[in-house]
Amino acid sequence: MTEVFKGSFTQQEPIPEAGIEAAVRVMRHGRLHRYNTAPGETAETVLLEQEFAAMTGARYCLAVASGGYAMATALRAIGVKHGDKVLTNAFTLAPVPGAIAAVGGVPVFVGVTGDLVLDLEDLEAKAGQARVLLLSHMRGHLCDMERLLAICDAAGITVIEDCAHTMGAAWKGKPSGTWGKVGCFSCQTYKHVNSGEGGLLITDDAETAARAIMYSGSYMLYERHAAGPPPETFETIRYETPNISGRMDNLRAAILRPQLADLHRQCERWNERYRAIEAGLADTPGVTLVPRPPEESFVGSSFQFLLNDWSGDAVQTLLARCLDRGVELKWFGSAEPVGFTSRYDSWRYVPSEPMPQSDHVLAGLVDMRVPLTFSLEDCAVIARIIRDEAGRIFQSEH
Ligand SMILES: *Cc1c(COP(=O)(O)O)cnc(C)c1O
Repeated sequence: MTEVFKGSFTQQEPIPEAGIEAAVRVMRHGRLHRYNTAPGETAETVLLEQEFAAMTGARYCLAVASGGYAMATALRAIGVKHGDKVLTNAFTLAPVPGAIAAVGGVPVFVGVTGDLVLDLEDLEAKAGQARVLLLSHMRGHLCDMERLLAICDAAGITVIEDCAHTMGAAWKGKPSGTWGKVGCFSCQTYKHVNSGEGGLLITDDAETAARAIMYSGSYMLYERHAAGPPPETFETIRYETPNISGRMDNLRAAILRPQLADLHRQCERWNERYRAIEAGLADTPGVTLVPRPPEESFVGSSFQFLLNDWSGDAVQTLLARCLDRGVELKWFGSAEPVGFTSRYDSWRYVPSEPMPQSDHVLAGLVDMRVPLTFSLEDCAVIARIIRDEAGRIFQSEH
């Protein structure tokens, strides 16, 4: 009998009851805007910011409308201007180059290695071209952060981290998002906490935090940011910084707070699922798994493997056969982006040279979501199906 998987790759867990109750409380009292508080009340948004700052160890935190907004705001806050070049990943999700374009910046793409992290040799070679790196920890793979910072420090490059896939992750125990000058997180449905849309920005730098708060649309209510810098930081910044509204509201914050409190356990559950798939795919002929270095504490909310040197037709056959058996895989090697765009040559508003080494990696790169609604047995079934189909195709070709 041919095994078929019946689960949904896009089904998240429900919002925890505590989040639903908190959201209903906010709707009952009606004060959804973050600055609309009763006497003596601390807004849910402020509490969320304080809790996320405490969790990451960052000095300041600002909650905003999306992860993309957090990144664009971070770039503005550190002074990226129209026409400035910004180094970034050739392999990431469209909102990353989009954030650079939003501030009039020009992305300069840095390649991806076979371990799915930023190619640090390519970074070193291009370090002279820009003063800023928007580093995306794409699909949760962390590069050697110490080496990355050594390269950037030597070249005078400021680092902003896109942690959309690394909320809860760390390198050598230091949380992702605290290595660079600013860390940007997404609370969109498919990330590690879910408020539909939403973003969080963290930094230890008072001026950067103050500018970000003003940009986000704080009017002159910046003193209500308990997770922000002291009022004197705003002395001139408050007159100089345009309002580009992108605040978070109390409803989203209320939904997020119980999820943050539970993040550590959720990350463990993701990793159990990740390890179950990894174990099920080990030693499959033609399938290369991605090594996870011991310095990296990752969150296995998605799974990648490489079909090195497979023909495009063979990869597409695998995707079609797996889909027939209920397993939804994505391929980063197709000529046309499907569903989402993640590679440099899809973003035609950015001039780019061909990147053969990255192209070679992406030509074999297959990706899969791992929602927490999957059981460990589901993960074993998924791995068996991929193993079965991949093994068969690989053997018929070799
Ligand atoms: C989701 C995502 C973002 C930000 O997404 P928003 O939808 O704007 O919150 C940034 N980078 C990556 C790699 C992402 O996947």
